[in-house]
Amino acid sequence: MGEGVLTLGLPDAFLERDGQLFCEGVPLSRIGEEVGTPCYVYSETAIRRRYEALRAAFAGVPCRIFYSVKANGNVAVLRLLRSLGAGVDIVSLGELYRARRAGFAGSAIVFGGVGKTAQELEAGLEAGVLLFNVESEGELRRLSALAERRAVTAPVAIRVNPGMTIETHAYTQTAHYEAKFGVAWEDVESLYGLALRLGRVDPAGLAFHLGSQILSAEPYRQMLQRVVVLAEAVQRLGVRLRYLDMGGGFGVAHEGGPELDLGAVAGAAGAAAEALGVEILLEPGRWLIAPAGVLLARVLYAKRLGGRLYYVTDTGSNDLLRPSYYGAYHPIEAVRRAPATTLADIVGPVCETGDFLGRDRPMPALREGDFLAVGFAGGYGFVMSSNYNSRPRAAEVLVRGDAYRVVRRRESLEDLVALEEPGEPGSIQSL
Ligand SMILES: *Cc1c(COP(=O)(O)O)cnc(C)c1O
Repeated sequence: MGEGVLTLGLPDAFLERDGQLFCEGVPLSRIGEEVGTPCYVYSETAIRRRYEALRAAFAGVPCRIFYSVKANGNVAVLRLLRSLGAGVDIVSLGELYRARRAGFAGSAIVFGGVGKTAQELEAGLEAGVLLFNVESEGELRRLSALAERRAVTAPVAIRVNPGMTIETHAYTQTAHYEAKFGVAWEDVESLYGLALRLGRVDPAGLAFHLGSQILSAEPYRQMLQRVVVLAEAVQRLGVRLRYLDMGGGFGVAHEGGPELDLGAVAGAAGAAAEALGVEILLEPGRWLIAPAGVLLARVLYAKRLGGRLYYVTDTGSNDLLRPSYYGAYHPIEAVRRAPATTLADIVGPVCETGDFLGRDRPMPALREGDFLAVGFAGGYGFVMSSNYNSRPRAAEVLVRGDAYRVVRRRESLEDLVALEEPGEPGSIQSL
């Protein structure tokens, strides 16, 4: 039942020592006692290793890495990635603000997103972002008009919707026409023609994004081959492409099983870069950050209902939405190590039947107050959390060696109502 085999994330960051789980040199129980639970714990070493591994896989390819902020936008995490040499891929004004707070220069920012407002486009121009990934003719025209008003030229890539279905969760498939993303393949050339005529946009790149949690190199290989043909047609229009942005989506094998063959992806990317004479832009989120974090929780109660054993914990779907939203599998381990003796459902306190972290998991006998760690929670964890059931959002902790620091404090009860202006009953005179 997997005793002794740690599956929480990067093995040298989350490890077993003295019968306990550690993050690097810090016992998770110590963080749980001192910071409280629920709490996200990230390993600096893991983030570093992942970044270096990605660089190494793409060593032979002219490319730049733009970390996708939406996976985990904590400013401390962003600062760390900046120190390693990453740029960022952002999708909103809020992410732009975070990126700037973390010290990213405009030239280290790619601005994507299907529905950028005029305010967001303006802010991107103000920041001098490297590239706007444009997803509609309307956006291209609006961006050009805003650039004209500022007497600047906006560097753009048109994001093409590849019109193909890739094996991943339906909600993370972004590459077919039933999904709202990008520009239809057949409209791409005319949009570059328009970009040339508009004058205030510089068509510097071509972009695509296949989806998320993709574990096979094959879709990347196929898409890169197809997109080279499209990009060559665009080049024949007189467009001087400098970038091919191939998005993110690199998957992480949470459940074990074969990892994505990044070398094969890099090989295909290198061939495309060479054929087109462009630089490759990568926008990985999950791959860099998911295995670098766990969600730490405490068992509140153990109870039996019919034939099932439930461990009710102090964390749930408001903190980590992925199990109930995507049916995602996240490994769950007891922090105090003991052999698994039973199958249990690990659930949260939120008033929803779908509020579970894992079902039918082999677990040791746990007592009230025991700590559990939910693995591969570094990406799309905290960022998707909410205050549902008026639960203050979790703290976030960054570990480095034998030390840790709180990089986001736990929300307080005052935080929950801080933005509300209830007034006195009857104080609204007329609506
Ligand atoms: C979500 C997204 C990414 C990052 O996806 P991951 O699966 O986290 O790598 C990159 N680019 C675009 C355009 C995205 O929408």
